[in-house]
Amino acid sequence: MTPLLEIDAITAGYGGSPVLHEVGLAIPQGAIVALLGANGAGKTTLLRTISGLVAPASGRVVLDGRDLSSVSVEDRSRSGLAQVPEGRSVVAELTVDENLRLGGLWRFDRRQLTAAVDEIYDLFEPLSRRRAASGHQLSGGERQMLALGRAIIARPRMLLLDEPSLGLAPRVVAQILGVLRRLRDDTGLTVLLAEQNVTSALAIADHGVVLSLGSVVADRPAAELLSDGALRHAYLGF
Ligand code: ATP
Repeated sequence: MTPLLEIDAITAGYGGSPVLHEVGLAIPQGAIVALLGANGAGKTTLLRTISGLVAPASGRVVLDGRDLSSVSVEDRSRSGLAQVPEGRSVVAELTVDENLRLGGLWRFDRRQLTAAVDEIYDLFEPLSRRRAASGHQLSGGERQMLALGRAIIARPRMLLLDEPSLGLAPRVVAQILGVLRRLRDDTGLTVLLAEQNVTSALAIADHGVVLSLGSVVADRPAAELLSDGALRHAYLGF
């Protein structure tokens, strides 16, 4: 079966010095893939290359059979790729409700937009109680839920997530990752999840990919990665 997302021998970096070296992976539709590796391994760079923010020196990103090489960041998102960057960017001056509407504005008419916003509140209960709060009043967990809600409201096919658990309490991490799992189960959303929190990520992932110094050193089912003590110790720090 053709994978939804295919990364083919991507070499990419900044200012002529490569960070990623011939990275290749294939993600089937409906899979949750954890992208693991130490600080500086190249996880963020890979996500940014997929979304088009970093132009690769060589290699291809293919979404559903379509080569994205000459496709702009905006058109990639119109084709169903959504990215939640590290840092939970939300519009601080706007309310939760306004932030969510902004995420779906290009996709829906007024009536559809209200229904789509309500669906996000169903997924993230705590956000529904904070509809009128502005972005800067939110806790870290609420901000992450809002950043995620804003990315999924337009119903992307493929979600790229960078370190959603960073600095959050375990209970909130479990809640956020649980929503990803539910979305995948219910809607077939495909997820590439960069995480330092290896155990939490592998708990919801089907598959794990380990990057080290910009190269893929493992690409295996999540359960296998968790049970391989030598690999965990060498690359994942536990
Ligand atoms: P982290 O968990 O720290 O975000 P990461 O695995 O996501 O790590 P990257 O952020 O992709 O790794 O960084 C990989 C390498 O690229 C690092 O050596 C980093 O210093 C370098 N790098 C990242 N962003 C830039 C940039 N904008 N300009 C130059 N070098 C960069």
